[in-house]
Amino acid sequence: MSAETLPANAPVFGYRHLLGIQGFSAEEISFLLDISNRYASALPQDLKKESILSGFTVINLFFETSTRTLTSFELAAKRLGADVINMQIAWSSIKKGETLIDTAMTLNAMHPDVLVVRHPDSGAVKLLSEKVNCCVMNGGDGSHEHPTQALLDALTILRRKGRLAGLKVAISGDIKHSRVARSNIYLLTTMGAQVRVIAPPTLLPAAIERLGVEAYTDMRAGLKDVDIVMMLRLQTERMQGSFVPSIREYFHFFGLDRDKLSLAKPDALVMHPGPMNRGVEIDSELADDIDRSAIREQVEMGVAVRMACLDVLTAPERSRRAQAR
Ligand code: ASP
Repeated sequence: MSAETLPANAPVFGYRHLLGIQGFSAEEISFLLDISNRYASALPQDLKKESILSGFTVINLFFETSTRTLTSFELAAKRLGADVINMQIAWSSIKKGETLIDTAMTLNAMHPDVLVVRHPDSGAVKLLSEKVNCCVMNGGDGSHEHPTQALLDALTILRRKGRLAGLKVAISGDIKHSRVARSNIYLLTTMGAQVRVIAPPTLLPAAIERLGVEAYTDMRAGLKDVDIVMMLRLQTERMQGSFVPSIREYFHFFGLDRDKLSLAKPDALVMHPGPMNRGVEIDSELADDIDRSAIREQVEMGVAVRMACLDVLTAPERSRRAQAR
């Protein structure tokens, strides 16, 4: 199973890199979700046999800490048979700009096939993609985009609700600094969902409505009748100064608990990209309630989505190698 086993009339994914969701058409998103879903449904024994990336090298270059994203990219690449190298670089201890390009050039000389990059600066991953010869995947750049997170969130919703179009989705928390919010807004609005963002005024970006969402500063009003509640962490590492009066007050007004969740649809699904701050943006017991929370499934879908993206981006190079044989 791979992108090549899709029907001949499946749309072609014409991108060399995966830098963001912005600009993708509904067909392109559906194409990625379809392949991701195939990987998610594949039997473990089938996946063990996959070796479409044998002879390929994937380098995970992370300038910011990560647990889920790094591990699942590593697992996804290994399940497809690639050689994987993880590089975690403490960004604060090195000089900006120059070092990013230097690192890119050094890695490029090693001829990797895929670079997965996470970086604290918005736009850094695109810059790097312009300097190297291989495919680049964005593992999260500053507060800009986190495309594989949005895809795994969409796949989780699709598998639970059977559709994206027409669903009411509330994204709640630190919208201003969140790349997860941005990628999800692009994806969900393109796929026909009705997206609301909920945050205190200090954490709502100016003119956010231009992205096709409704903005709420009252969480109770924003949660009314929604199908999905996506909670976000306060991105304190991207904050200069104080954006919330106190954690206690923040939880009172913007923390998700059973009382506030009761305003959403009775079968509303609770999601969170992790890492969670229990008792800050979400009640701990609610986060663990498997009847309401899809947080564990999100992690599971992450591996399938990353396998699909690696498969799709390397398809042209795989067929080039096959023809050269
Ligand atoms: N893990 C997600 C990210 O890298 C969400 C978060 O850190 O809050 O953006």
